[in-house]
Amino acid sequence: MKLERIKLAGFKSFVDPTVVHFPSNLVCIVGPNGCGKSNLIDAVRWVMGESSARLLRGESMADVIFNGSANRPPVSLASIELIFDNSDGRAGGEYAAFQQIAVKRQVGRDGQSVYFLNGTRCRRRDIQDLFLGTGLGPRSYAIIEQGMIARLIEARPDELRLFLEEAAGISKYKERRRETEER
Ligand code: ATP
Ligand code: MG
Repeated sequence: MKLERIKLAGFKSFVDPTVVHFPSNLVCIVGPNGCGKSNLIDAVRWVMGESSARLLRGESMADVIFNGSANRPPVSLASIELIFDNSDGRAGGEYAAFQQIAVKRQVGRDGQSVYFLNGTRCRRRDIQDLFLGTGLGPRSYAIIEQGMIARLIEARPDELRLFLEEAAGISKYKERRRETEER
């Protein structure tokens, strides 16, 4: 599963509809301080279902919506869509047959999010299910941020084990078992 492109609109500093392409396996994003590099990573995390506004460097979920600048009024909706190439079939189960998977999240000023999978409205859970066990996901090891290497080195064995379980693709089944036991 490979991220092909991101469509952004009304999200943080990306007020106008913008498409960012990732044409090869190695893409470097460079630019001056404050130009929106980290906002792109926030966008990826956000679509995958990140529910902590703090981890997205804001105070409330509505803080991801463009809140205006000197010459632009604020907007009322933030929308991000991630388009993945799934020709390796890494997204398992019912999604394995899709060559391309589009995952979208939108939020309005009321802070309510809606999610879409290949254009069809779905639950946040469905998006989480899609990514569980693929190594992607809002808090997975697919996103290595500042300080994370140090955290991994210093992690307790039980914390480290969670990363290994995700890499081995078994976290999905553990989650299913936990849910079944709860019922
Ligand atoms: P650095 O090199 O310093 O890490 P960066 O390229 O990672 O910079 P970001 O943190 O991605 O920069 O972008 C910060 C910019 O995004 C700031 O100018 C900030 O005002 C703007 N920004 C963040 N949230 C919003 C929002 N809700 N509405 C409008 N602009 C926003
Ligand atoms: Mg940054």
